Amino acid sequence: MFKRILIANRGEIALRIIRCCREMDIESVLVYSTADAKSLPVMIASQAVCIGPAKASESYLSQDAILQTAISLKCDAIHPGYGFLSENAEFARKCEEHHIVFIGPSAEVISRMGDKQRARELMMQHDIPVVPGTKELLKSLQEAKEMARKIGYPVLLKASAGGGGKGMRKAFSQEELEEAYVTAKAEAKAAFDNDDMYMEKLILNPHHIEFQILADQYGNTLSLGERDCSIQKNNQKFLEESPSNLLDDRLRKEMGEIAVRAAKAAGYYNAGTIEFVVDEEKNYYFIEMNTRIQVEHPVTEAITGLDLLKEQIRIAAGMKLHLSQEEIQIGQHAIECRINALTPGTITFLHLPAGYGVRVDSHVFTGYEVSPYYDSMIAKVIVTGKSRLEAIRRMRRVLEELIIEGVQTNLEFMHLLSYHPSFIKGNYNTGFWENHHETIEEWQKSGR
Ligand code: ADP
Repeated sequence: MFKRILIANRGEIALRIIRCCREMDIESVLVYSTADAKSLPVMIASQAVCIGPAKASESYLSQDAILQTAISLKCDAIHPGYGFLSENAEFARKCEEHHIVFIGPSAEVISRMGDKQRARELMMQHDIPVVPGTKELLKSLQEAKEMARKIGYPVLLKASAGGGGKGMRKAFSQEELEEAYVTAKAEAKAAFDNDDMYMEKLILNPHHIEFQILADQYGNTLSLGERDCSIQKNNQKFLEESPSNLLDDRLRKEMGEIAVRAAKAAGYYNAGTIEFVVDEEKNYYFIEMNTRIQVEHPVTEAITGLDLLKEQIRIAAGMKLHLSQEEIQIGQHAIECRINALTPGTITFLHLPAGYGVRVDSHVFTGYEVSPYYDSMIAKVIVTGKSRLEAIRRMRRVLEELIIEGVQTNLEFMHLLSYHPSFIKGNYNTGFWENHHETIEEWQKSGR
């Protein structure tokens, strides 16, 4: 097992990894920016090293500074968390060159799956259903128009290097496509320095269902069930739950097996996620693989009883998976809400909820300054219940207990969302926010 792990991240996920290291008797070395000097992860890591200013490009994305720290402090491995360098194949390759274990899949797999069109091609070769669309990258607007005519409007243009919903545009007609092609390409160029585009049929208001995969380096691959992440705003998830109301046992088993096949086709090891969109007729299509631990991983931990961070570390250290597919039992329902700060500023008072079936992953405290430099998520609240209804009722009381003063948050919106009839019935898809946010905002206004 590793003696010392460097954590190349910040916020709640850095805290999560440090806590895990402590439980495993592994020393944690945290790198941080000047903006995070007074953060909780810096206080509780075994060692913390400031590597640069607030700007992520000069700190959390500074590959050389991070590697230098890992080498000089004799770290055996680096955990990248999510975001930042977690899906950067070049960084994973540099770690490999320096004989430092990158806690994740191999650099080759990251680059194979990080190129979304290439990942689509690989899935097609293995008979895994993908959304109807391009077989190769689009070469021109002309070709995009021809492809759209062939698959039929509406279509979705996507950046092959894309992530976080960037470089993605819908088009319902040829006129819209002409504009979408230019704006999607420009956005992709600015965000990823790569404007390769491909096209998929736009599935109207699909469900976003993803499967958590765990694989060791010896070809053993497990499916840990799904997460329904259909509640999104601008393609960004903000509530996730499992099991999904949409899947019955037969479909769950079938999609789980497809997800395992997809991971094997990619040569995958460590924790990863296979994402699908599912239409009203329950046809499912692979959209992409995330080659890292995800924000919403606690949902799966809650229903399986597995600690995914520990599993990641064990796998990276060369250990075999210690359980079989039959041993994965899902008996509970779990829901996660992401609590985001809507403004930067200082948290003047904080009270975190607790009690039976409750988990809060958060790095903030009274006096904490929400920095404009980084992601605005300040807490993840995860509840578990015997049934979906119990989980919903628990979520309501937890959100009532949670107090955050000093900055505006989406807390009240999330609380009211849990009373929306479509949510209660579990009858929602990715159109939820667009269709219902005004109603919820009205409730918010009338309650004041
Ligand atoms: P990113 O990597 O930028 O997050 P994804 O390919 O994972 O992009 O897609 C993000 C979201 O966009 C999905 O969760 C889903 O809601 C929506 N989406 C993706 N592909 C399609 C599609 N072909 N039709 C309809 N919605 C889609």
